[in-house]
Amino acid sequence: MPLLSWLSESTDERPEAVRIDDRSVSWVELRRTAAAVADDLRGVRRVAVPATPTLETVVAVVGGLLAGAAVVPVPPDAGPVERDHILRDSGAEVLLTGADGGFVDSPATPPTVPVALTRRSDARHPEPDPAATALILYTSGTTGAPKGAVLSRGAVAACLDGLADAWAWTPDDRLVHGLPLFHVHGLVLGVLGPLRLGSRLHHVGRPRPERYAAAAGSLYFGVPTIWSRIAADADAARALRGARLLVSGSAALPEPVFAALADLAGHRVVERYGMTETLITVSARADGPRRPGTVGLPLPGVRTRVVDEQGDTLPADGAAMGELQVRGDTLFDGYLHRPDADAASRTADGWFRTGDVATVGPDGWHRIVGRAATDLIKSGGYRIGAGEVEDALLGHPGVREAAVVGTPHPDLGQQVTAYVVGDGLREAELIDFVARQLSVHKRPRRVRLVDALPRNAMGKVQKNLLAEE
Ligand code: ATP
Ligand code: MG
Repeated sequence: MPLLSWLSESTDERPEAVRIDDRSVSWVELRRTAAAVADDLRGVRRVAVPATPTLETVVAVVGGLLAGAAVVPVPPDAGPVERDHILRDSGAEVLLTGADGGFVDSPATPPTVPVALTRRSDARHPEPDPAATALILYTSGTTGAPKGAVLSRGAVAACLDGLADAWAWTPDDRLVHGLPLFHVHGLVLGVLGPLRLGSRLHHVGRPRPERYAAAAGSLYFGVPTIWSRIAADADAARALRGARLLVSGSAALPEPVFAALADLAGHRVVERYGMTETLITVSARADGPRRPGTVGLPLPGVRTRVVDEQGDTLPADGAAMGELQVRGDTLFDGYLHRPDADAASRTADGWFRTGDVATVGPDGWHRIVGRAATDLIKSGGYRIGAGEVEDALLGHPGVREAAVVGTPHPDLGQQVTAYVVGDGLREAELIDFVARQLSVHKRPRRVRLVDALPRNAMGKVQKNLLAEE
């Protein structure tokens, strides 16, 4: 089914299709307003959108897609260097400006077209070919400069259909989240998901526990930082008891957070794994078990394998750690203007190299150890996953946040170094605390107590900055 055919044919009169903060539109209003934007965009191939969490952004994205253009969401609070890079690198011909005008002061800004929620059109815009580009999304920039990933309409549709199946996601659902609208999580899953399926969306503006708690949803999306804040706020967690499904992704969900939500909210969180380049590839299912520390099974239409450094497939024994590689209908078409990264990202036999380290159990369940570059610590002949040590530290009542990296060590190659945020902590006590839980070689040799961890817009810890210190 074409990407937006449900919306583009919708005569659904339910009053609230999409709500952001306290403004909402119905399906018919959204279709007609977006069609007016699409009318203005005839012949435009690439359109940039300042992705503020507003209805104007939703209308602009839908208008661009109805027009058959590739939509390039730009982080609204990106600094001028990042913003101008995205505007230039993407080749956007037009900037759709919403309520706040966004970026018109930049020399990189292409001609602007305003988005007004009051306009209406009944024009029908034919759906382009599934091979046409839907989105150019920039990666989160956790490991370096963000790269533009070209995603086809067919890949986006395949991903959303896989998730509808895995999460039993239907038009009866009401999705709640407060994610940024310029990455896969907030935009593809969080906006195009409900629009493709005809399920309602309530975006709470900012991801705060009290806002999640006050929104009456059936389905909730969040990154681990928001789940961990909700887990620390018993009232907010209890308010989610009536939901159908809580879903986490974008980074690893710490096991203590999974346990706290099971206890307080009565939900075993569904964790899923994906990337900008591959969309979502692996997930736990609504109709199946959820296991802390694991991300589930490949979605329909996706194949995975775990390989060693020679490229040989490792056994699915739940222990052998190697690079996770994926293929299937949800993969991107390539990076923009990055032939080097493109060539490095695929194997000779056509698999995408995620750069993440994983294990697969005999039952097919995947466990993400972390990024090969920063989360797999090679110390004295051992390979140690940072996440396991982080989870052990988070079990300490005084520890609020923890990030573990490998830092250079003269004998061991790397040593386990932990950065910890919390109150009344002492280095020696924390080292002991981990040593009592895990094999002795996994205990941190250094624990640095810090005020905050460096995080990007998705709440992901920028470990390259820690490792550089
Ligand atoms: P960049 O590629 O620019 O350095 P990034 O990799 O963070 O940034 P994204 O494409 O947004 O950009 O994120 C994909 C990565 O997020 C994955 O490669 C993986 O490392 C991590 N990730 C996503 N979901 C999970 C999960 N459930 N568990 C662990 N890691 C996850
Ligand atoms: Mg990446």
